[in-house]
Amino acid sequence: MKTLVWLRHDLRLEDNPALYRASELGEGVVAAYLLCAEYIERHTIAPVRLDFIRRHLQIMAPQLAALNIPLVTIAVDSAAEIPERILQLAQEHRCEQLFFNAEYPLDELNRDRAVADHCRTQGMTVKRFHDRVIVPPGMLRNGQGEPYKVFTAFKKKWLQTVMPLRLQPLPAPQQQPDTRAFTPPDINALFKPFAQRDLQELWPAGETEARRRLHQFVEQDLHDYQKERDFPAHEGTSTLSPYLAVGAISPRQCAAAVLAANNGEWDTGSEGARCWLGEIIWREFYQHVVVDYPWVCKHQALQRHTEAFPWRKDRGAFQAWCDGKTGIPLVDAAMLQLKATGWMHNRLRMVVAMFLTKNLQIDWRLGEQYFMSQLIDGDFAANNGGWQWSASTGTDAAPYFRIFNPISQSERFDPQGEFIRIYLPVLKHLSNKQIHSPPPTSGYPLPIVDLAESRKHTIALFSNLGAA
Ligand SMILES: Cc1cc2nc3c(=O)[nH]c(=O)nc-3n(C[C@H](O)[C@H](O)[C@H](O)COP(=O)(O)OP(=O)(O)OC[C@H]3O[C@@H](n4cnc5c(N)ncnc54)[C@H](O)[C@@H]3O)c2cc1C
Repeated sequence: MKTLVWLRHDLRLEDNPALYRASELGEGVVAAYLLCAEYIERHTIAPVRLDFIRRHLQIMAPQLAALNIPLVTIAVDSAAEIPERILQLAQEHRCEQLFFNAEYPLDELNRDRAVADHCRTQGMTVKRFHDRVIVPPGMLRNGQGEPYKVFTAFKKKWLQTVMPLRLQPLPAPQQQPDTRAFTPPDINALFKPFAQRDLQELWPAGETEARRRLHQFVEQDLHDYQKERDFPAHEGTSTLSPYLAVGAISPRQCAAAVLAANNGEWDTGSEGARCWLGEIIWREFYQHVVVDYPWVCKHQALQRHTEAFPWRKDRGAFQAWCDGKTGIPLVDAAMLQLKATGWMHNRLRMVVAMFLTKNLQIDWRLGEQYFMSQLIDGDFAANNGGWQWSASTGTDAAPYFRIFNPISQSERFDPQGEFIRIYLPVLKHLSNKQIHSPPPTSGYPLPIVDLAESRKHTIALFSNLGAA
């Protein structure tokens, strides 16, 4: 029985369960990639991310072809067309089975349900696999049978569940019978042109590059991760998030590499290794959150009582934040890093998100959407989780009264102003002391908000909301 494998955010050959399990049957596999215009618009998918996907597909097509697996691409305007188009594709290629790897946000779950139901009514077999996480959502429950709300408890249970398992990433799919010649897909025709060559060089595509980054990070930086990870001017983190987001590498491959470097130990051994594994578990936590608390996928706060927070409508301040013109050098440099590279260091994501929500009191949803429109690693679960954490509206979020002061953060995590100087060369001449808060004589714009006043006001507004 021939199988159609629908690729989405799993753009790799190795350790790809849907692809591997289909190939194992040895009866022919066709891989498909579908681009939906409505979906791109609704989820404000960044052009840099779409281009990253395009480049991955270009690398994958000949690799799949070498295994006699044709890659077919299709474009649709609306999400409503997807079930019928997938069915048509399966029928055109005489596939009686449809395999795909699961995606967890509500929109994707509903889409996949609709496709599966439609294909099943026509007699097809449909199978869903889990590749985006090591422990599938829904599997971890506390003593009362409820989903976890606190990360440390989730992490403990996650480790208890995973530690007895043997993490064995799957090999590349098996060679398929050579049935008929197929024409290579015109992948470029599917995507809008994107000409930023510097970003293509900064983020080379492909699973080989993803594995190279993983191994280089594990060999050179893993053991110092907990010491280095908060300094944006240091190369202390893996920069694997774009590759995990498009699925050029799997969390299993990441965890297996860490274990190999840590004598097979999960929660003992190297502090750096445990700390980095902790981040992979945070990633899993947020994937579970979108399934356990699906209303977060509808632009709603996880802690419902925080919906009453009176967010300010201030287009000018929001634009200044987007453009890196807030008058706070670390915030501005971070927002310019995002524009220039499609990526932002984690410490800075927290700083700029807190600044937007707690000092400017602008709705986290605007920041969440802007991030998605710019990020090469845009991932609904991680982005929503990060924004709701920063805004104190999410699960296990920062308590509302613990508000980062962006100038203290700057002095602490960019003490020599090295990071600020990269993105704000106009401040190059300032001393290491002045660069965090330039004097009025420097000509740098003054902060658009009073940090102390706005902090006090936000705490008062949150305390008026009462408890959850
Ligand atoms: C407001 C905000 C928005 C964010 N939006 C995204 C997003 O859209 N996509 C995204 O992948 N991450 C997001 N993050 C999480 C984090 O900032 C990035 O994953 C991290 O900066 C990526 O860099 P790295 O690959 O070098 O990470 P490393 O430090 O090397 O960590 C390894 C991997 O763990 C995962 N990870 C690390 N930290 C987190 C975290 N806090 N939450 C979830 N996963 C994590 C990522 O997949 C990352 O690649 C966001 C965080 C915040 C505060």
